[in-house]
Amino acid sequence: MKLQGNVPKRNSMRFAAAILIALASFVAGPNAALAASPQHHDQAPGFYRLKVGDLEVTALYDGTGVFDPHWLNGTKATMDGVVKGLHEDPHMLDVSDEAFLVNTGKQLILVDAGAGTWWGGGAMGRLAGSLRSAGYTPEEVDIVLVTHLHSDHVGGLTTQDGKRVFPNADVYVAKAESDFWLSPEIAAKAPKDAQPFFQSAQAITAPYIKAGKWHTFSGSETIVDGMQLVPLPGHTPGHTGYEFSSKGQKILFWGDTIHAQRVQLQHPEVTAIFDIDQNAAAATRLQLLPKLTREDVLIAGPHMPFPALGRLRKEGSGYSWVPVVFTDRWDEHAPSVEKY
Ligand SMILES: [Zn+2]
Repeated sequence: MKLQGNVPKRNSMRFAAAILIALASFVAGPNAALAASPQHHDQAPGFYRLKVGDLEVTALYDGTGVFDPHWLNGTKATMDGVVKGLHEDPHMLDVSDEAFLVNTGKQLILVDAGAGTWWGGGAMGRLAGSLRSAGYTPEEVDIVLVTHLHSDHVGGLTTQDGKRVFPNADVYVAKAESDFWLSPEIAAKAPKDAQPFFQSAQAITAPYIKAGKWHTFSGSETIVDGMQLVPLPGHTPGHTGYEFSSKGQKILFWGDTIHAQRVQLQHPEVTAIFDIDQNAAAATRLQLLPKLTREDVLIAGPHMPFPALGRLRKEGSGYSWVPVVFTDRWDEHAPSVEKY
């Protein structure tokens, strides 16, 4: 910039000030900061909203984690590829944990509840804070729909001292799921490594059962208007997706259909060691992914990167994840295809 005689006075003063600051830093030495701004370590609140028909859907951040490659089961060739890939990209198995809130206008429905204090070393369990940031309180939640009883999905329901975090909520889960994890006989026969899963499921559910707030379903009964149960067995015996529809739009809350998206979308046959029935888990995924791709269904996937909302596209012999694009207007996600 050249300084001309007609430069407005305000600019010329700013210019003079800049010269003074530059001189001062020159005198102080090359390492002196020009203007030391403090770093801001707080983050944007962990929620993200979008509209599905008349529904308000809010993704709620619960935390992050890393999936261990030893937790994946695939052919030797596939798994060799995963290990090689990890050397090139150590973030390949980074995962996220989310739960979701649906405000139907009549009811406030939480789908899964995050980990609370029941999973890992504190990198999860932010759900209640995210919920409050999103403008709601745990007391307002009417219904919790649970995809399955692993503690990264239900730990947020209950405190370690046995208090219900959602005191007014009725909790729903598949009967096969509840019967499996809450059975003392099955727990007694389970391998040692699996014992903590049974113990946490029993402790987390106990206060809701005691309060008469624990409900199971075994067919296609209606729990919420406009919501369909989608059995997705394999990962766990009663693993269930929840599909909400409104005004011709759909969203599927698919639970743990995918854990390690960078592996399992390209190789849907790869399972996780936590899949109780490995064959059924793979079969469910192989059947579901093409259907969701074809129908362009909006997916809420608890372990996809925040906000864990997106769609599938066919890519090579597998699929790719197309995340929703950020917008600061909650209703801007409505399809606009009819314009073209
Ligand atoms: Zn999970």
